[in-house]
Amino acid sequence: MDPDSNHGQHPETFTKAPEVELDPLSVVPEPVRAHFPGEEPPPGLRLEDLGPGTEAEPHIRQALLGEPFDDPLAPGSVRCLACAHRCALRPGRIGICGVRQNRGGWLYTLVYGQLVVARAEPVEKKPFFHFLPASYAYSVATQGCNFHCAYCQNWQISQAHREGIVPESWHVSPDQVVEQAVASGVRSIAYTYVEPTVFVEFALDTMVRARAAGLHNLFVTNGYMTPEAISLVAPLLDGANVDLKAANDSFYRRVCGARWDPVRESVIEMRRLGIWLELTTLLIPGLNDDRRELRAMAEWIGTALGPETPWHLTRFQPAYRMAEVQETPSRTLVEAAKIAREAGLRHVYVGNAPDVESATTNCARCGEPLISRRDFAVTEWRLVEGRCPRCKHALAGVGLEDSPVVV
Ligand code: SF4
Repeated sequence: MDPDSNHGQHPETFTKAPEVELDPLSVVPEPVRAHFPGEEPPPGLRLEDLGPGTEAEPHIRQALLGEPFDDPLAPGSVRCLACAHRCALRPGRIGICGVRQNRGGWLYTLVYGQLVVARAEPVEKKPFFHFLPASYAYSVATQGCNFHCAYCQNWQISQAHREGIVPESWHVSPDQVVEQAVASGVRSIAYTYVEPTVFVEFALDTMVRARAAGLHNLFVTNGYMTPEAISLVAPLLDGANVDLKAANDSFYRRVCGARWDPVRESVIEMRRLGIWLELTTLLIPGLNDDRRELRAMAEWIGTALGPETPWHLTRFQPAYRMAEVQETPSRTLVEAAKIAREAGLRHVYVGNAPDVESATTNCARCGEPLISRRDFAVTEWRLVEGRCPRCKHALAGVGLEDSPVVV
């Protein structure tokens, strides 16, 4: 049997966010400190040199998801368990993401509440097409990322540490984020623009408060999380859009400095835990637009996650270290969508290309148009209590029972 297969386990439809009994204390483990033999600092380092942030540095906080790492040459090393890099950090060292550091034998986050983005956006822009359509999400991000994709569209914040950029940022508390989100009339908070796992402590504290305020939590993620990180956030996470960059190891290694297997495993684990999933793939000419590879990706999605999993195929725009690569031609997007549909996927969308095709959701069973959109706005809603008016098949997604206000 295909080890990726969840056949028979994934629900045909997914119409409701999972109910969670919320006990914030039960999901937050204690920070862990590395062992210094005899509590002696390693040569060249005084423990007090790299302690907690001062009052003037409220963004420097003890991190979660760290464990002592036994390095005979560097006592006081810690391993970060937030993402699949599992960086082993000697005292003073910063992880690949640029925002988590071993300070005196403790793992610290350097960006707690230090936002570089905070704004309300249509949830369709993230993109989520089957999660509370026509609602808004309050998007937040810090700097830093565990990937260094050569084509990153947000490189000024994700790669700030590599490029020597100091993005404009400001400090907020989780309560303030939720207050601002509620005041702006959104239905959810999206942790986005960079990989949210790298600021998981702030995300988690905000997620607890968001749920208490009646908001949903969404991750826009590269999926490079550890099982430990997933189980930490899963009880509070309602949906994730996973950036599926390719379905092979060579692309992840060459272009992103990462590996495919952890992404594959995370996606399957999130589905198993009942988190609503949509996938996005940026099609880059000559890199991941091969017809056979696209077919293999579509088949994998259908088998591992179910044919009603939405897949957004989006147009690449030249950026960062791939400024010389041409944007994705329209014919490539059309062909890719055709391949995905032929492979059995029911909800395939072409993004960032209004010239190519409209973003319409059709019934997975009979093909009836159900939701029409233009420029991230819902323009037509034909669902009746979340079902196709013709064949009564329930559309997969979250919050589809009630018609939103149509723009
Ligand atoms: S989150 Fe950062 S420090 Fe932690 S393992 Fe990933 S890249 Fe390394």
